[in-house]
Amino acid sequence: MIFLGLTKIGGIIAVLSLVLIQNTTKDMHPHWIGLKKSLFVPLLFLGMSLSFAQAQTEAPGLKAADLASAYESYREPAITHRRFTHADLQPLIQKHAAQFQVNALGKSVMGKSISALDWGTGTTKVMLWSQMHGNESTATMALFDLFNFLEGKGDAHQELRDLLRSQLQLKFIPMLNPDGADAFKRRNALDIDLNRDAISLISPEAVILKKVRDDFEPEFGFNLHDQQIYYNVVNTPKQASISLLAPAYNEATEINEVRERAMQTIAGMNELLQELIPGQVGKYDDAFEPRAFGDNIQKWGTSTILIESGGLIGDTEKQEIRKINFMILLNALHSIATKSYTKYQTAEYFAIPDNGFQLMDLVIDEVQVPVNGNWYPVDLAIRRRETESTGGYFLAGSVEDLGDMQVFFGMETLDATGLKYQEGKVYPTSFESVKEVTLEKAMELLRQGFMAIKVKQGSPRQLHDLPLVVLKSSDKYSGGWTTGAVPNFFLTREGKPTHAVVNGHLIHLDRLPTEKFRNRIF
Ligand SMILES: [Zn+2]
Repeated sequence: MIFLGLTKIGGIIAVLSLVLIQNTTKDMHPHWIGLKKSLFVPLLFLGMSLSFAQAQTEAPGLKAADLASAYESYREPAITHRRFTHADLQPLIQKHAAQFQVNALGKSVMGKSISALDWGTGTTKVMLWSQMHGNESTATMALFDLFNFLEGKGDAHQELRDLLRSQLQLKFIPMLNPDGADAFKRRNALDIDLNRDAISLISPEAVILKKVRDDFEPEFGFNLHDQQIYYNVVNTPKQASISLLAPAYNEATEINEVRERAMQTIAGMNELLQELIPGQVGKYDDAFEPRAFGDNIQKWGTSTILIESGGLIGDTEKQEIRKINFMILLNALHSIATKSYTKYQTAEYFAIPDNGFQLMDLVIDEVQVPVNGNWYPVDLAIRRRETESTGGYFLAGSVEDLGDMQVFFGMETLDATGLKYQEGKVYPTSFESVKEVTLEKAMELLRQGFMAIKVKQGSPRQLHDLPLVVLKSSDKYSGGWTTGAVPNFFLTREGKPTHAVVNGHLIHLDRLPTEKFRNRIF
């Protein structure tokens, strides 16, 4: 209603004014004719300009505020974090069985069902598939939000919904790799990367995707992934929260009509994204990968758009990026339904800056490290990678590189000029368990130079949230500043510790940390 209303009202006013102006007869009093013209000519202009103004704001796509309000109304409340399972999704799929046509496509290596949900009666076919990499779940969440939206009725978005229904035939495949999703890992149960199995088709999941594509023959395809949080917009400290790609269909990365359509659609998506996350959109590398699905589906004649959901500071569970996915998908579907993507040029696609891989969780500049009795100033670049464990995940800190780190950007940085590296000690007396140690107690131990404690209860790989190294099976811990080392150490000024780095987390010793630590017992 909001989207098309003004165009229609403006159009009606303009047409009525024209009719009234034309409908002037010879026997009318000249004064009356004059009055009529003075009244209806401005009215004609009002109508035309209303119509034109609205068409102008409408053309690039839907309004961000309307898309955001659609998301707030239709977000699927049963999904609240990234690590949902195949079993979690089944009742949600069933919930939509009345409004969508739900089809069982087949089973994963471990026998879990893979389903398609079909919606719409139009002629333009669009296929969207998510989570072929099991630990890339952001878009799956957005698809379930989208299902709720499409199933809604009688709200401010009905006109958009009717348009999509009448123009498009949508096929959704949420969670193509359920075995990988349940273990929250990239690969399937055969340990194969499905995105390198588009030609050999060794995996049942790959066979399913290929067969659906060939049977359905969509005009457009959306290949939905997550990328590491360390991707940035090249040579800037801005995180690439969304990266987009119209994959190449040959080694020469040529552009045919199929790929051009994908590029135009992406240019429209980028326009909205620049409103939502200015400067945080990257263009993914388009080197041709002969085994990948995106590249091959483009080659097979479906205009294919890759969406990579990256990181956004403070959005650990990717709920903001989920919302952005919902908004850009809905916007893209609208632009396909109205063919408004045709107004974009491939140049606008190429103008999107490239992705870089230059982000670090922590960069410590100019810290003094000792070798052979001398001190050297180095920058330390540190990442903390998520590692799955029972009962959740922990972060595993690692020194990625050191020396001159000016080509990297820290999500957190410390200027450690004048600070010296120092190893920590192990507290000699064992504690009963981690529960016995409060955050305040942990900070007191760190200030005294103790980096690690021992506990009597607990087991290795068990999670804890203390800013300390916790030992159960060992009396010693691993730490250092060289490449690959676990960043466990102190920074000191005149022999006194000012900062601790525990498993790659920077802790200022003069204040209580507020971040939530995800550490493990060793
Ligand atoms: Zn992926």
